[in-house]
Amino acid sequence: MKIFISADIEGTAGIVNWKETEPGDQYGYFAEQMTGEVAAACQGALDGGATEILVRDAHDSARNLNPAKLPRKTRVLRGWTGGPYTMMDGINETYSAAAMTGYHTCAASNGNPLAHTMTTSIEKVTINGMPAVSL
Ligand SMILES: [Zn+2]
Repeated sequence: MKIFISADIEGTAGIVNWKETEPGDQYGYFAEQMTGEVAAACQGALDGGATEILVRDAHDSARNLNPAKLPRKTRVLRGWTGGPYTMMDGINETYSAAAMTGYHTCAASNGNPLAHTMTTSIEKVTINGMPAVSL
């Protein structure tokens, strides 16, 4: 059973400020926390019967995770390829399930101090006039 995990940082436990999401300030602490949360998700997937795990590092430079701290059988997709699935890049029909760690609420919503949609310049995304994400 193949599992795909996409990992962001703005929803990582305890993070509250944009400066904590990029190198400098408290970034190192939260990158380590992000890696720990991904490792826990991977271990849970393995305990549940996963045989292969692909983790898409999906924040900013896509070079946030420490692969050495992830369980064996875990591969990490680092850097950006320009693929159409952006933060889900790497997923395909061969995966049995997908999970997200460190994700955040959408722009203009409550629940996360770093809420945004893709970039900080997009307020909402609609498809045929309907919100792509409900608040
Ligand atoms: Zn991010």
